[in-house]
Amino acid sequence: MAVLVTGGAGYIGSHTVAELLARGEEVVIVDSLETGHRTSVLGGALHVGDIRDKAFLEGVFGQHDIDAVIHFAAYSLVGESMQNPAKYYDNNVHGTLVLLQVMQQFGVKRIVFSSTAATYGEPERTPIEETAKTNPTNVYGETKLTMERMMRWFDETHSLKYVALRYFNAAGAHESGLIGEDHCPETHLVPIVLQTALGKRDEIAVFGNDYPTEDGTCIRDYIHVSDLADAHLLAVDYLRQDGESDVFNLGSGNGFSVLDVIHTAERVTGLSIPTVIRERRAGDPAVLIASADKAKSILGWKPKRENMEIIIQSAWRWHQAHPNGYVE
Ligand code: NAD
Ligand code: UDP
Repeated sequence: MAVLVTGGAGYIGSHTVAELLARGEEVVIVDSLETGHRTSVLGGALHVGDIRDKAFLEGVFGQHDIDAVIHFAAYSLVGESMQNPAKYYDNNVHGTLVLLQVMQQFGVKRIVFSSTAATYGEPERTPIEETAKTNPTNVYGETKLTMERMMRWFDETHSLKYVALRYFNAAGAHESGLIGEDHCPETHLVPIVLQTALGKRDEIAVFGNDYPTEDGTCIRDYIHVSDLADAHLLAVDYLRQDGESDVFNLGSGNGFSVLDVIHTAERVTGLSIPTVIRERRAGDPAVLIASADKAKSILGWKPKRENMEIIIQSAWRWHQAHPNGYVE
């Protein structure tokens, strides 16, 4: 049986494909390559196309014996989602609907998919548990919550079993040094900090230093991308063992401020990283820290790289070896 990975040429998808291949799974990848990279796919059968193209997806499901889907394919820029909500509803919600329809058509009943801390919005309490209120403050988070709700109703009506993984901040790169983070445009803190260390950018803009935190900058929960990847494999196992549909946070439970990240990067790289304070970025909650106890106890997830230095060291290896990202 094969695992279908949508968005498997993207950042988190390519790391998950690497782990699936390492444990001997048959892997099928669907990716439009719109934000992903062909060379980030280390193996498996890559089909280039859009999940919204039903005939294309039917062709893929018809060619392979798929028993589970891991669904990463989506747009994920918060700012863009607030300027162009239709683009986000179309890819994230409509794209997922087409995927679910084709899964139903081919009798595939297991799906693990990327949700996000953005489904919670501004938290009332930290660390955030899965029982916390979901109240997204942006369109991106709303589309992910809608995807979760769609799956719930497909379960209710057609016994589709899903695991929604709500990631906090993915960072770092694969230990092989072959794959890493290369978004265009890049908006994430860790790669921007390391691009600044490399001299690819003049400075890093810190979005606000007047938050109610110790140093005034936002606190986030950074989790190594390979630990995230491991959780997807455990979630597939859980569904193959007839686990019930559920939602899990994936984070380290530790918070780092923007300045903590920059200072850690200075220590790891041995370079000084020019920093400038700018306005707050709209919609940024002050503190987002996960409780990942549920994923640990139910899925048996054990993050192995829960340390900011390790995360940044792995990302730094990738950025030094690939200063221009994937050159294709
Ligand atoms: P990414 O952009 O690197 O990967 C997404 C992949 O999906 C890309 O390869 C892209 O080409 C592909 N894709 C997009 N739309 C498609 C479509 N319609 N058909 C086929 N392929 C399509 O993003 P990422 O950072 O790896 O994120 C992966 C998933 O995780 C996304 O769903 C994102 O919302 C979610 N997520 C990411 C983070 C993070 O910190 N990076 C945090 C929370 C949630
Ligand atoms: N951030 C920043 N400067 C940047 C990029 C990000 O100060 O150039 C901050 C951002 O405001 C947030 C944190 O770094 O508080 C993490 O941002 P990122 O975009 O990586 O992830 P998010 O938490 O938005 O998903």
